[in-house]
Amino acid sequence: MGLSGSYYNSIKAMQVRLARVSGFCGDGGKFGVSGAIRLAQEAALSNPGQVYIVGDLVHNTHVTDWLTDSYGIKFVKKLDQVPDGSTLVIKAHGAPPDFCTTCEAKNLHVVDATCPMVKAAQNLVRQFVSAGKKVIYVASDKKHDEAISVSQQVDHGVKVVTLDELSALEIKNPLETVVLTQTTLSMLETQKAFAALQKKYPELAIRPHLCQATTERQRAVLELADEVDLLVVVGAPHSSNSRRLLEVATSTGKPAYAVDEAEDLDPAWFGAQIDSVGVIAGASTPEWITQAVVAKIKTINNE
Ligand code: SF4
Repeated sequence: MGLSGSYYNSIKAMQVRLARVSGFCGDGGKFGVSGAIRLAQEAALSNPGQVYIVGDLVHNTHVTDWLTDSYGIKFVKKLDQVPDGSTLVIKAHGAPPDFCTTCEAKNLHVVDATCPMVKAAQNLVRQFVSAGKKVIYVASDKKHDEAISVSQQVDHGVKVVTLDELSALEIKNPLETVVLTQTTLSMLETQKAFAALQKKYPELAIRPHLCQATTERQRAVLELADEVDLLVVVGAPHSSNSRRLLEVATSTGKPAYAVDEAEDLDPAWFGAQIDSVGVIAGASTPEWITQAVVAKIKTINNE
């Protein structure tokens, strides 16, 4: 469902190039963001007006608004706002066990849209802790939905840290400790931090768990940066994978900006020295938003 392929379009002096991998992850609805959306759509069509989601299905408000307006799905902040007996879609970032227990108690019909990559991390946490290991879970933000759903699979034995905190971390028993990551961290920053950690603790087991959708999009930004003067990342401010794309884009030294939608573009970014613009969308950004951004960039006259 994501935009893919690369092309040039010339409007005045400006060229716009789309990254070779961009937009929704999940291979057209099989898993990930596009899979979660497909499951929510199907649930809404089978149970009109009865489908609820606690929080965001995926981290993009345009998707939330569209599912509300076009499919009648109700987004609520807390599980106790979901009426007993209705249908609940678990978001792509998954849910902790106590959430699922409450769903059972409320007799909800649960549609689980957890991404398989997140489910795999949940399983790993349970396996490591039941084997007597301590888990250090590296998250983009300790309150991120995925960090909560994965780290709370067990009631003890998991310490959540950010990538920035890793270098100062003292690990008392490295032989009995495993390091695991959120799926959407920065590939380059994670490699750097883990190389330093492994040097400090050679016996430590380090299990990076970045998903392919994340690493592919980050590689695509690096490639795109070689070919354009400026980079635009299309994604919601609360989308971890989109924020990492901006970090990777910025690390290339090219001017880079993030926008949630076309209206956020500032013509002042596109000075006379900018002839080509590279655009990439985060894994939760819908195609129509990306297309609107591309179309608007093409209208900017930078002469
Ligand atoms: S970004 Fe990765 S982990 Fe997140 S939904 Fe997509 S495939 Fe799954």
